[in-house]
Amino acid sequence: STALRLTAWGTPPRLVDLEVPVPQGTEVLIAVEAAGICHSDLHVIDADAGKMPYSVPFTLGHEVAGHVVAVGPAATGIEIGTRVAVYGPWGCGRCRRCAVGHDNYCDRRSELAWSGAGLGRDGGMADHLLVPAPRHLVPIGDLDATQAAPLTDAGLTPYHAIAGLSGKLREGTTVAVIGVGGLGHLAVQILRAVTPSRVLAVDIREDALELAHLSGADMTTLTKPDTSEVLRAATGGTGVDAVFDFVGSDATLALGARTLRAGGDLVVLGSAAGRLTISKPGPLPPGAALSLPFWGTRPELHNVIALAQAGSLRVETELFSLSAAGEALRRLRAGRIRGRAVLVP
Ligand code: NAD
Ligand code: ZN
Ligand code: ZN
Repeated sequence: STALRLTAWGTPPRLVDLEVPVPQGTEVLIAVEAAGICHSDLHVIDADAGKMPYSVPFTLGHEVAGHVVAVGPAATGIEIGTRVAVYGPWGCGRCRRCAVGHDNYCDRRSELAWSGAGLGRDGGMADHLLVPAPRHLVPIGDLDATQAAPLTDAGLTPYHAIAGLSGKLREGTTVAVIGVGGLGHLAVQILRAVTPSRVLAVDIREDALELAHLSGADMTTLTKPDTSEVLRAATGGTGVDAVFDFVGSDATLALGARTLRAGGDLVVLGSAAGRLTISKPGPLPPGAALSLPFWGTRPELHNVIALAQAGSLRVETELFSLSAAGEALRRLRAGRIRGRAVLVP
């Protein structure tokens, strides 16, 4: 069995031969059909030792779909052959958050030696993935695995962020999406599908703006020094009701703060570790709310899969074989992936 493993911080991951694991207890063994590559994988690969709350080595891959090939003796409610998407933010499995499928906000997160599948624990950039329990599996029917895999993060994370503003994004509201890559292009589609909001999209790449347009954005604009004025002008001067920042750099946080309407929501998803001063008064307008959503919940993943099955979401993908993972990672780093790169073992 082949797996793409991070064996030392700050070095490229390597393809390694491993024994196919045998599921114990409640574990379930998945034959991987597709695994998405997230920009977070680059943040993880590049991290200095001690920066992430987990250690090497482990197999990368936190966006996974496939089918069940073996189950542990205590794994109930799942059958061999079932095609599934894997809910990746595995928590402790015992706290109140995990009990309702909100593993992304597990109460014991800080005590765990992993952040999820492929993030401190062996993930799905491999032929096989060992999942701790059947509760992390969402059936996908005949949905294409190369669609289902990216939906588990690039779809779920924006869905969770947008659901977090439910009730606020009413008729007549305008939102800005900054960064229209893997997550951003699905954010635009989800906003289209579940809110009546007008969507403005911002990126530094023409190609990404074209994808934003195809995904249903009402207006797109390249990042320039006057982008906040351009976005404000598009709202008649009031500013946008919400900003979804899929970059999270100093520059995009400042842009978001300048573009927000009083009482608006700045939702930071990107992990570029930029800084924004919180002070009163300060860069954020009166009444602004700031949130830092992480991934999403299992019930939300069911909703995302249902939206895709209904034809409301279409992931733009570029497919690579597992053996070409290095090339796919290089292209993602260079800003040369349109939508999501997906590995097929
Ligand atoms: P991606 O590389 O596919 O897309 C990023 C997009 O942002 C690209 O289109 C790029 O051109 C654009 N961009 C870069 N700098 C920009 C700028 N200054 N202004 C406007 N656009 C800019 O990345 P992705 O996989 O979609 O991930 C996006 C971010 O979200 C990453 O930082 C990733 O680590 C993070 N992430 C967070 C969560 C979470 O739970 N919060 C989950 C997954 C990913
Ligand atoms: Zn991710
Ligand atoms: Zn928990």
